Amino acid sequence: MLKTISCGELGPEQVGETVTLAGWVHRRRNHGALIFIDLRDRQGVAQVVFNPETAPQAHETAGLFRGEWVVQIQGRVELRPEGTENPNIPTGAIEVVATGASVLNESRTPPFYVNEESEVDELVRLQYRYVDLRRVNMRDTLILRHRVVKFIRDFLDERGFLEIETPILIKSTPEGARDYLVPSRLYPGQFYALPQSPQQLKQLLMVSGVEKYFQIARCFRDEDPRGDRQPEHTQLDLEMSFVEEDDVLALIEELYSDLVEAVMPHKRVPKPFPRMTYEESMRRFATDKPDLRFGMEMADLSDLASQTEFRVFQGAVSGGGVVKGFSAPGCASYTRRQVDELIDFAKSRGAMGLITISLNGEPGPISDLTMDQVRSAAARFLTLEQVQEIANSTGAGVGDMILIVAGPAKSTNIALSALRNEMGARLELTDPDELSLAFVVDFPLFEYNDDEERWDAMHHAFTSPKEGYHQYIESDPGRVIAHCYDLVGNGVELGSGSIRIHDRALQERVFKVLGYTADDVQERFGQLLTAFEYGAPPHGGMAPGIDRLMMVLTGRDNIRDVIAFPKTQSAVDPLFGAPGPVEQSQLDELHLAVVGVEDPASGDPASE
Ligand code: ASP
Repeated sequence: MLKTISCGELGPEQVGETVTLAGWVHRRRNHGALIFIDLRDRQGVAQVVFNPETAPQAHETAGLFRGEWVVQIQGRVELRPEGTENPNIPTGAIEVVATGASVLNESRTPPFYVNEESEVDELVRLQYRYVDLRRVNMRDTLILRHRVVKFIRDFLDERGFLEIETPILIKSTPEGARDYLVPSRLYPGQFYALPQSPQQLKQLLMVSGVEKYFQIARCFRDEDPRGDRQPEHTQLDLEMSFVEEDDVLALIEELYSDLVEAVMPHKRVPKPFPRMTYEESMRRFATDKPDLRFGMEMADLSDLASQTEFRVFQGAVSGGGVVKGFSAPGCASYTRRQVDELIDFAKSRGAMGLITISLNGEPGPISDLTMDQVRSAAARFLTLEQVQEIANSTGAGVGDMILIVAGPAKSTNIALSALRNEMGARLELTDPDELSLAFVVDFPLFEYNDDEERWDAMHHAFTSPKEGYHQYIESDPGRVIAHCYDLVGNGVELGSGSIRIHDRALQERVFKVLGYTADDVQERFGQLLTAFEYGAPPHGGMAPGIDRLMMVLTGRDNIRDVIAFPKTQSAVDPLFGAPGPVEQSQLDELHLAVVGVEDPASGDPASE
């Protein structure tokens, strides 16, 4: 080894030892004749002092050092002189007094500072990812991710799970998104697909008798880019035989609470994880991913609203929509400008508008409220009794502001839950050290797709309907509740799973409702259906996302910050310049021609 110890490992225990260090020049300072170098490696930073009197050669070499040069240093570990210790860094009690120094490699001036967490354009960070990953935050994230995955592996190994790799080149296994296709050279005109998830493979492993399977699996989905989506993401893919819903949830609860305790002991994870049905979650929080760190629950005001003189309310209800709202504590004093910001926010989340009702004045019972205390664009269309009723339904008191959205149920819920999260953030209602994990259960099996006028699977086609609902599969699909569950963390969906269908006839009924023809079913799912005829055990599982978990653990809102080499938001890899054109000879070998693109290179997103 070119070093005897890591910079970050140094401490008072090494005082008096002679060490060899190797790493990057993090910072350089001259103090009169002395040169101070902060030397960095993956473990941390150590201060090295070069004295021209005692080590003239090393001092001269250090005079050449520049930021990010790779250097090797010999020296003696000493306690820093009293008064010069740095309690802010772990190695702050000691320094290395250099006796020798050499340059292992020079560096060009880096495109941005490694030694400070300044804002840097993300494209530049991704282009120079190898420099970006040297920064403390990114390094810590890589280390944490390793610990998370290692913990998961050890935990599941101890409980008898087998880690099994499944192929990356498979056949198209539709799971709601578009496939990435890989042309076959040996079979011109034929394609492999990259797995959207190993769903069918893990079910086949259950038929194989594996009983407990997991994999840290890469999943590929060719979707239009969205905020926290990546073309490829990583899941903890997990499947178990002979289990019921409670068994899977109990395992996940233990895994996640033990995991957080092990890797982030300062975080608080309330246990047991609350469980609520999809119906309850939608009713109370207008979303199936509720952030349970704060209240501000929803009230359905539709009945009440339809009796008011307010056209907006009446129109929403008579048009088959809803009027819902919640109370934001202490916000009656919001200024016109703050309210306008919230209206714009609601509109940007798909609401037609936002009605606010501020209840001004000294705290007191709602029954004593007078109309003078009510500030709202809708005030003149509402009676005092109606305002009081709205206040009581939303739990608002004097001093609070009620936020109300009226319109079609789906868009109203989306806007209201976004508003609730926004108010939670504005009012700083969340404790950064609390990780609130919850299960949402009893999802509907099917969801009607208005645009395509057909039923879609709410989770996926392999999810089993709950007992007692089988008779509605064809006659009233919307009524069927599934053995399906989500894990939600701080308002983010961390993963979904279900108890699966393991019976060919039942699976065929579900496929039929989803609009697959018998030929489609045979072509796409034939292998699974046939396997079901050879002794398929009851089974179920889950697939929590690792990237999302990392985001919640580190409090980041950019998924790219928790992945070593991510794609940009427009699915481009600026480091390698992918996607990019390929040689004509490669296309020829694959019997492929690029058509309809004038100059393939000009459409190369990475060359922009
Ligand atoms: N395969 C599913 C998904 O990727 C998860 C599961 O049901 O286990 O969402």
